Amino acid sequence: FRHGESSEVVVNTPNGPVPFGEHHPVVIVAGPCSVENEQMIVETARRVKAAGAHFLRGGAYKPRTSPYAFQGHGESALELLVKAREETGLGIITEVMDSGDLEKVAEVADVVQVGARNMQNFSLLKKVGAQSKPVLLKRGMAATIEDWLMAAEYILAAGNPNVILCERGIRTFDRQYTRNTLDLSAVPVLRKLTHLPIMVDPSHGTGWATYVPSMCLGAIASGCDSLMIEVHPNPAKALSDGPQSLTPELFDRLMQELAVIGKAV
Ligand code: PEP
Ligand code: MN
Repeated sequence: FRHGESSEVVVNTPNGPVPFGEHHPVVIVAGPCSVENEQMIVETARRVKAAGAHFLRGGAYKPRTSPYAFQGHGESALELLVKAREETGLGIITEVMDSGDLEKVAEVADVVQVGARNMQNFSLLKKVGAQSKPVLLKRGMAATIEDWLMAAEYILAAGNPNVILCERGIRTFDRQYTRNTLDLSAVPVLRKLTHLPIMVDPSHGTGWATYVPSMCLGAIASGCDSLMIEVHPNPAKALSDGPQSLTPELFDRLMQELAVIGKAV
């Protein structure tokens, strides 16, 4: 890229190359918080594909606050993501928590996610920077923009130019009505400071499915390049993040709303 110009991150999926960047349509990443079983991940993949999503998200390794909460199915979940990709052609985005799992995760993922809690795990950042899959770097929940950009710099400096930044809400003082405070002002600020593509995740950003559609619209209005949206076939039964997950029906309705304002396909 040339200085002062946005760069694009092009990800090859079975359905074709998907470009992330300022001059491309908004890329939609949807799926459950966790990969729970084959039936649910394949069903969710089919439903979000039909609604127009480009990528399936789903955690195999889950960073949970409590060690007694569901930790993800690990390697077997990675295999289920491969099945979901075979069924739908969607690209796969899944999180790596431990550099010991990086090779396995990167083999399956089309984009490797580094979660909020690992944003400043510098040894992990160096390792994802030294492999070739694009990296989705979520903002740490107490990270300044500078902290976040410097974390991205670790990946770039290690040789991987394909980094996407994801705003997913930061900690403020209110946790009663929202899980995090979605910082939509980060979008225009990042646009000024960096050439990297910008994603917004209103699901983790608000913690409640009911607030996700309006924040998706707001994120697009603020100029984001991509959205990450949690979708679960039965949110009430989800093993993680049910309250913030849309049903496939609500996701479908949201995609129709996004199409009306343009940019999103
Ligand atoms: C996730 O995307 O599943 C996740 C755990 O997000 P975050 O790292 O933003 O909390
Ligand atoms: Mn989640």
